[in-house]
Amino acid sequence: MQLYSTKRVSPDVDLKEAVLKGLPPDNGLYMPYEMFHLPPSFFEELPQMSFNEMAINITKHIVGEDIPEKEVEDIINSAYNFDAPLVDLGDIKVLELFQGPTLAFKDFGARFMGRLMGYFLKGSKDQVNILVATSGDTGSAVAHGFLNVEGIHVTILYPKGKVSDIQEKQFTTLGANITALEVDGTFDDCQRLVKTAFLDKELNQKLVLSSANSINIARLIPQSFYYFWAYRQLKDQSLPLYFSIPSGNFGNLTACLFAEAMGLPVKKIIAATNANSIVPEYLESGLFQPRTSVSTISNAMDVGNPSNFARIMDIYSNDLEIIKEDIVGYAFNDSETARCIQDVYKEKGYLLCPHTAVGYLAIQKFLEEHPSPANAVVLSTAHPVKFGEVVEPLINAKIEIPERLKDMLGSEKKSIAISSDFNELKKWLLNK
Ligand SMILES: *Cc1c(COP(=O)(O)O)cnc(C)c1O
Repeated sequence: MQLYSTKRVSPDVDLKEAVLKGLPPDNGLYMPYEMFHLPPSFFEELPQMSFNEMAINITKHIVGEDIPEKEVEDIINSAYNFDAPLVDLGDIKVLELFQGPTLAFKDFGARFMGRLMGYFLKGSKDQVNILVATSGDTGSAVAHGFLNVEGIHVTILYPKGKVSDIQEKQFTTLGANITALEVDGTFDDCQRLVKTAFLDKELNQKLVLSSANSINIARLIPQSFYYFWAYRQLKDQSLPLYFSIPSGNFGNLTACLFAEAMGLPVKKIIAATNANSIVPEYLESGLFQPRTSVSTISNAMDVGNPSNFARIMDIYSNDLEIIKEDIVGYAFNDSETARCIQDVYKEKGYLLCPHTAVGYLAIQKFLEEHPSPANAVVLSTAHPVKFGEVVEPLINAKIEIPERLKDMLGSEKKSIAISSDFNELKKWLLNK
């Protein structure tokens, strides 16, 4: 498969180069030329397929000759051993994307990317060092996604005392090819250390450094799988299909557009944001005005300049009128989000995480405006237990920690303490 840069200055690349580079040198984003419809036989056979069989079919369709079939099967089968069930709450259905090891949908992208990078690096003599700064969630998804991938070492930098206990345990108890550095500083210090390392001449001469960037195309491709999986689970596929997507960087929404391009009959996409409402405002006014993000209780969506917006504009050739036929946007504040968590818990006995609640509010509003029968699906991006400090006081109850997390919480934290001085990081990397 060939990919181009959305800025159209850098040359086209193949999948391997797009995945290993992450970003084109012209600062655009890589986009695939080919996003063809899946053949009718795919949809005929879909009702009999398992998630992995479906994912293998879609991946083969997208990557073509770039990866041997056997390798595609190995990548998918080792990446996915968890489900994405569609839970029926009456007029609204919830697609639970949090059944993976770190309890958030980012597992789908990170686990595929880890294995794909591992495949592309097979046989190369240099070990690749992935450096990640995290304030919590990215670190755990990347750590689990790259765990035991040959040829890759992952170093995670996190701010001491500033991540939750669950988050810290998710990337400090793994061992193997994952090292956690506990930085005596802030998240900004961690980001600065990583950026400085990528620019450091000596480090780059002696080590192969790479990032597990969230806008890597290898994270988007696998996120298209679960839209088909939601469709596969519908009782009446003939009704109009709506997806409400709680959004920050809009990777998840871009993946929905990929699924649509491959023939999934999506009638409307609902872009749901918190107070960082840059995209809903753009859909309203036609003006894209990025700004500094504000903090909310759905903090994984606190993004003031959504990086995948360029991909969305590219798909629609910047035509706002056509975008508005497909996508509608809504934004909600923290008190509306909190009330939604309480209401749904009381009325349906179902607990939403703050991000999912924003998506729930958006689809509720859309259904009020379009009340005819439909398959209204909201993506549940994280398990509520990850946001216990927000959710528990709202419902006045303790959230049960999933069994598979209990083992991890009992394991010993292993991390290396460093200061926020770059030379200390550099010395550690060189002597590792
Ligand atoms: C990352 C994240 C989002 C936002 O997804 P984008 O693809 O960046 O729009 C939403 N919810 C949760 C829980 C997340 O971790």
